[in-house]
Amino acid sequence: GPVLGIESSCDETAAAILAPDGTILAEVVRSQLVEHARFGGVVPEIAARAHLAHLPALVAHVLGQAGLTARDLGAIAATSGPGLIGGLAVGASFGKGMALACRLPFVAVNHLEAHALTPRLPALGLPVAFPYLLLLLSGGHCQCVAVLGVGRYLRLGTTLDDAVGEAFDKSAKLLGLPWPGGPALERLAASGDAARAPLPRPLYGRAGCDFSFSGLKTAVAQKAARITCEQDRADLAAGFQAAVAAVLADRARHALAMAPGTTALVVAGGVAANAGVRTALAAVAAAAGLPLVAPPIRLCTDNAVMVAWAGIERLRLGWQDSVGHAPRPRWPLMEMTPA
Ligand code: ATP
Ligand code: MG
Ligand code: FE
Repeated sequence: GPVLGIESSCDETAAAILAPDGTILAEVVRSQLVEHARFGGVVPEIAARAHLAHLPALVAHVLGQAGLTARDLGAIAATSGPGLIGGLAVGASFGKGMALACRLPFVAVNHLEAHALTPRLPALGLPVAFPYLLLLLSGGHCQCVAVLGVGRYLRLGTTLDDAVGEAFDKSAKLLGLPWPGGPALERLAASGDAARAPLPRPLYGRAGCDFSFSGLKTAVAQKAARITCEQDRADLAAGFQAAVAAVLADRARHALAMAPGTTALVVAGGVAANAGVRTALAAVAAAAGLPLVAPPIRLCTDNAVMVAWAGIERLRLGWQDSVGHAPRPRWPLMEMTPA
């Protein structure tokens, strides 16, 4: 039967129902931007309470949208880490409660695995074959991962300090833009000239594919203090975006060299929405003779379709979890293969 997916690891409460073949029957995302905006970032306790307040109605909504009742479901998949423990506890407990009540299999989904397997969703029309290289670029994560198979991941590089989305958000704040700043910074950058605001490109050309963004953020802070007009602000935004795009492209080039046999370069996470970043990565993929696969934005950012799909991929291999599974705030991708 259809699989219900639940996502609650950060600041999106989401539910989705997929048919066993991966067809999307219903999906909904409720973002908590309003709740957190005045604090300039995600407040864990507020996030947990918002998930608690909204998840039941969202699950009822997708069931209605799909024309199903809980009795028609075949399995429940809920994000169980990594993420904020309060939200994880809400979503995973809800899912486990439903699984127990309806006597259904339960899958404790790793949020990073869900992002990693998204390009294999049949609804995208181009199921990417293993192995492929994943660049996960979000507010909380920044990693290069070789995706060898379901449950089989090799982390090739990660950030030494800030995640790239975090760098966008912090730089946007320095430019006086409202949180979350990524999209606003991209709009501002469109009217700027990157050449008028050259910025450092941390780790560019360095061996491996680790990332670092704190030095770039510091440079933005210094230049931001000397801004005298609106054009300066736009130039600085453009300079920041160009530096990030160049660094990401360089890191991706190195990662591809470290992952022989790769069939595609896949980019996921909210920062994949950035057109400058996509263009730079498309050039890297093209130079390597590979396709750049970027899921549609709604499936790049946090959603429950990817959680249900990861559940389906695991169930197909006969893998499921006990309702005794405890959510894990830290849960590296390398620890995903069942015993
Ligand atoms: P997690 O890291 O746990 O997946 P998250 O909520 O931080 O959680 P996403 O929802 O995937 O991750 O992405 C949000 C991030 O993406 C924010 O940092 C946001 O600023 C950034 N972002 C979104 N759109 C853009 C854009 N057009 N340009 C640059 N950054 C963007
Ligand atoms: Mg989010
Ligand atoms: Fe995410």
